[in-house]
Amino acid sequence: MADDKVSRRDFITKSSIAASTTLAGAAAGSADVHAAEEHLQSDYSVRTKALVSVLTNKRLINPATMDAVVDYYENKVGPHIGARVVAKSWLDADYRQRLLADARAVAREDNLTGAQGTDLVAVENTPHVHNLVVCTLCSCYPWPLLGLPPAWYKDTAYRAQAVIDPRGVLSKFGLELGDDVEVRVWDSTAEIRYLVIPERPAGTEGMSETELASLVTRDSMIGAEKIELPA
Ligand code: FE
Repeated sequence: MADDKVSRRDFITKSSIAASTTLAGAAAGSADVHAAEEHLQSDYSVRTKALVSVLTNKRLINPATMDAVVDYYENKVGPHIGARVVAKSWLDADYRQRLLADARAVAREDNLTGAQGTDLVAVENTPHVHNLVVCTLCSCYPWPLLGLPPAWYKDTAYRAQAVIDPRGVLSKFGLELGDDVEVRVWDSTAEIRYLVIPERPAGTEGMSETELASLVTRDSMIGAEKIELPA
């Protein structure tokens, strides 16, 4: 067992060195970076399978329950749920008002609270206010409304820069905001998750809730982009 631990640690160390080397090489144009990433990824995969196997054998987890949870977050919840909430808020002023006043209560009414039961806060983008959501600590995110978070949301660079230089981050996303726009950054926690209600684009008058929902993107509900009508 001790030998296993040593060899595993050794393997991980070598993998990290290999990854660092190839990542450095990538900056110089090397194509080996993908091989290093896949190498590390496969190690995480092996570790995860081993952990699941041990916990299952100890009867601490039930694989069928795990499959159901993964299926739920991969196939049943996703940004389409948040998009419906946003579209409804664009069409129904009373719903929008209630959403902004107490999003958790509205989510409960719509059966959108999810298993975590965390507090939900909705914030609206206007021509003069732009909201951006981050989790500086880890990756807290409104899963019941948006599904699994994007990789960049969990990235340390995003988590650090979003609170220091949100305009710079938004600029990297291709969103340039005027000086007359106030940027508000919301730091999610295990207790509070945020949903951005993006601005309804001009030219959508007369659209149905379904048509409007199809325009709402995941990133717009994090505040990382504005919704544009397709050309
Ligand atoms: Fe977090």
